[in-house]
Amino acid sequence: MNSKSNNINNNENILCPSAQCEDGAMLLGVVRKDGHISFLSKKVVIDQEFVKISRLGRSPEKRFRFADTCVKAGCKHWTKDRCVVIDNILDILGPQPDLAKLPSCSIREQCRWFKQLGSKACTVCPEIITDLHPKMQS
Ligand code: SF4
Repeated sequence: MNSKSNNINNNENILCPSAQCEDGAMLLGVVRKDGHISFLSKKVVIDQEFVKISRLGRSPEKRFRFADTCVKAGCKHWTKDRCVVIDNILDILGPQPDLAKLPSCSIREQCRWFKQLGSKACTVCPEIITDLHPKMQS
């Protein structure tokens, strides 16, 4: 395990649950055909080989969800003291009542969105695809 994967597995480290496909990031889930995420129940850190192979096809951020260290003010989605991605999505979708049972994801104790909003974040999280850029869709 390299120092990045040690860091990512450290429970004190808060993770962004909609990160980029990069060496040392965590594979959080897979985008199903219906557009929802199936979460992995175990922590799986990806390596350079995974990144290389998955970049051969459609954008990996359209097909998977990744988690990586939350860089706070180093990210364009950080405002004052929070990540506004989940705030904005909850504003649009509202908490999804039929998803009241929390998805069993592997990072809950480290998740930035859960830290901000608790289980409300988890009700919409399975509907979030990181890369929705239309030009890249196929
Ligand atoms: S918002 Fe909830 S379901 Fe989504 S990654 Fe965070 S803890 Fe897991």
